[in-house]
Amino acid sequence: METTIEKPNLINIQKRVLNNERLTREDGINLINCNDILFLGNLAKYVKERKTGNQAYFNVNRHINLTNICVSRCKFCAFSCNKNDSNAYTMTIEEAAETALSAPKNITELHIVSGLHPDKPFNYYVDIIKTLRKALPHIHIKAFTAVEIDYFSKISGLSVKKVLQTLKNAGVDSLPGGGAEIFNTKVRKQICPNKATAEKWLNVTRTAHKLGLKSNATILYGHIETLEDRIDHLIKIRELQDETNGFLTFIPLPFHPQNTEFSHLKKPTSAENLKMIAVSRLMLDNFNHIKAYWIMMGPKVAQLSLDFGADDIDGTITEEKITHAAGAQTDKFIEKNELIEMIKEMGRVPVERDTLYNVVRLYE
Ligand code: SF4
Repeated sequence: METTIEKPNLINIQKRVLNNERLTREDGINLINCNDILFLGNLAKYVKERKTGNQAYFNVNRHINLTNICVSRCKFCAFSCNKNDSNAYTMTIEEAAETALSAPKNITELHIVSGLHPDKPFNYYVDIIKTLRKALPHIHIKAFTAVEIDYFSKISGLSVKKVLQTLKNAGVDSLPGGGAEIFNTKVRKQICPNKATAEKWLNVTRTAHKLGLKSNATILYGHIETLEDRIDHLIKIRELQDETNGFLTFIPLPFHPQNTEFSHLKKPTSAENLKMIAVSRLMLDNFNHIKAYWIMMGPKVAQLSLDFGADDIDGTITEEKITHAAGAQTDKFIEKNELIEMIKEMGRVPVERDTLYNVVRLYE
């Protein structure tokens, strides 16, 4: 790679990235403050190609949100509501099964995340997973964020380990990465005061990994956090990955302010989103994959992200509710062929993957 910049600290970072050396917190802060996004993109692209060559991943999946009723009422969330609100809903076990069975036959994954319902017992969730497992024995069930697991522990009186083991026995195969938001305590208290703390999120995830349940990790950025908070968040995730190696992919999630208590804020720009992808790729040297979630980035930026360090653009989804409640203008699903075309247009080789990144099909 040729050096395209003159700032000594960035030249130094570039050298160390080329030598496969770990970047420090200070490096991260220098990178996130750098406005030369082409420099960041090229460096992150180099790392992406060192990790996964010219391939770019997607999957065929279906999202299910069992309920939008939630006791947490995070201030950035436009999806949740109270029990008596007119838009409140909670699926019965039969409705959850019908929703799963109505998904296209070629899905390989169910992605299940929901609100923290005030009355439903833990057994409701266990029974749903058992029913889905029986109805779709070959589908990977990725269900319940670390925040939901922490809540199940609270409502059932069971330890986090017991909750996870029970869900694993019922049919859960892995955990999604939501609920991490931003780990900085002060910011977390302002944006989601009723939610599991950062320590709890990390501990639940650690326990899941030790039980053999892989998971994803996320960051919600572009609200009231500082750029330093973002780097500290990445470093905490990197440290846990060093310890457990249980994360599959990292997904930077840009904040969508519409219909939230932060509706006066502007959502992050496309340049900021590309920068966040690149910095995540550079800092998380122990992650194989960085995902540009097309629903939140928008398909065009997700596509460009494949040249800024991302190697995954997520899946067909079938029906997205959470980001659309916050005003997302993207479609609620995408056809598999569109994902394939998006990847091919960037000169990458599309790879349909399962949740664990096993290759389902290469589209060369
Ligand atoms: S982000 Fe999750 S936990 Fe927070 S209010 Fe929304 S549904 Fe509930």
